[in-house]
Amino acid sequence: MTVQLGIPAVRGGAARAAGAPAAGPTVDRPQLSGLADRYGRVATDMRLSLTDKCNLRCSYCMPAEGLPWLAKDAVLTAEEIVRLVGIGVDRLGVRELRLTGGEPLVRADLVEIIAALRAAHPDLPIALTTNGVGLDAKAAALAAAGLTRINISLDTLHPETFAQLTRRPFFDRVLAGIEAADAAGLGPIKINAVLMRGINDTDAPELLAWCLERGYELRFIEQMPLDADHGWTRDGMITAAEVRGILGRRFSLAPDPRARDGAPAERFEVRPLAGPADGGPADEVPLGIVGIIASVTEPFCADCKRTRITAEGKVMSCLFSHDEVDLRPFLRSDAGDEAVASLWQDAMWLKPKAHGMDHTGLGAQDFVQPDRSMSAIGG
Ligand code: SAM
Ligand code: SF4
Repeated sequence: MTVQLGIPAVRGGAARAAGAPAAGPTVDRPQLSGLADRYGRVATDMRLSLTDKCNLRCSYCMPAEGLPWLAKDAVLTAEEIVRLVGIGVDRLGVRELRLTGGEPLVRADLVEIIAALRAAHPDLPIALTTNGVGLDAKAAALAAAGLTRINISLDTLHPETFAQLTRRPFFDRVLAGIEAADAAGLGPIKINAVLMRGINDTDAPELLAWCLERGYELRFIEQMPLDADHGWTRDGMITAAEVRGILGRRFSLAPDPRARDGAPAERFEVRPLAGPADGGPADEVPLGIVGIIASVTEPFCADCKRTRITAEGKVMSCLFSHDEVDLRPFLRSDAGDEAVASLWQDAMWLKPKAHGMDHTGLGAQDFVQPDRSMSAIGG
C-alpha cells in the first residue's frame, strides 16, 4: 500500500512547497534533524535500489518467469538519485550508502551514478550489493568511479546447484566477477549466501573454507519471507542456529570481540576445529571471520539504522513494511529539498517497532508477508 502523505502538517513543521503534490493525511511528529522514529532509532544507513530488474531468478527472491518490470520512466533517473542521496547526506544525517536492486549491474549508467555520488560526497562510504554477473567487465570502472566496497551473492561452489538455485547457468561468470572485484581493489570482498534446505545447506562449510582461503568475508543470511512465490515457511528455512551447527562440524566459531555496533551480521572468528599439531583446542590466529544475519530467528530491529528507497522512489522504513511513501512525485514537482526531506522524515517516523516475524518458533499469526519481493524492495 502506498501512503499518500503529501506535504505533512508536522508539529514544528515543514513548509508547504509551492508546486508540490497535494497534501494527504498528516503525520504528527516533532521537529527532527534526522531520520528518527517513534522508538528512538535514527536511520543513518541508506539502502537505495537502482532497478527492480534482474538477470537471475533466485528461488528465494524471484519467480521463474520474472516479475512485471517497472516502466522505464517510473525508475528514478541518475539525477534524481544523486539529488536524493544529497538530501539524505546533507540534510538527514545519512552516513553510509548501499546501492542494490534487483541487480544494480544491469543499469547502464551505474558507473556514472557512482562517479557523480563520489564527486558530491568525497567521504561517503558507498557499497554495492550485486549478483556478480557482468562484474568482470565493470569492476575496475566501478572502483575508479569511487565505489568503496562490494558484496557479491554466491550460495554454492557447485555450478549445477547454482543453476538450480538461480535458474541460470552463470556460475562461472559470478566467479569471474568476484575475482575481478578483488583484483580491482574492492576488497575485502563480502560474499552473501542464503541456505536452502536440501539444496545447498550442506555446502556451507565448503563455501566458508573457499572464502577464508581467499580473504573474503562470508555472511549467511537467513531466508526471509520475501520471495515472490510465497514459498517460505518457518519450518523450511535454515536458522542461524542450524548454520552455526553445520559450520561447527568443520570449524570452531568464537564471537568476534569487536563491537557489533548495530550491524545486522553477528560475526564469528573462525578457527580450525582442533589445534594444528597436538589436537588440542585451537587458539591460533583466526582463519578469518564469518557473519550470520539472523533476521528471522534473532531479529535486530531494536538497533536498525536503515532507511530504504525503492527503484521508483518510495521510502520503505522496514523491509517488511506494508506502507510506502512515494517521494517521486515530489522529486518531479517544484517541491524543494526541504519538502522532500520532510516527507522522508514522516515515512521514517512511522517505522514499525519490529517486523513481527516469528522468532519463537511458536507461530507467526500476526505476520503478513509484504506484496513486494526482495528484488522489488532492494535487499
Ligand atoms: N541482485 C543482487 C544480489 O543478489 O546480490 C542485489 C539484490 S538482492 C535482493 C540482495 C541480497 O538479498 C542478496 O544477497 C540475496 O541473496 C538476498 N536475498 C534475496 N532474497 C532473499 C530472501 N528471501 N531472504 C534472504 N535474503 C534474500
Ligand atoms: Fe536477482 Fe539478487 Fe533476487 Fe537473485 S537475489 S533474483 S540475483 S535480485
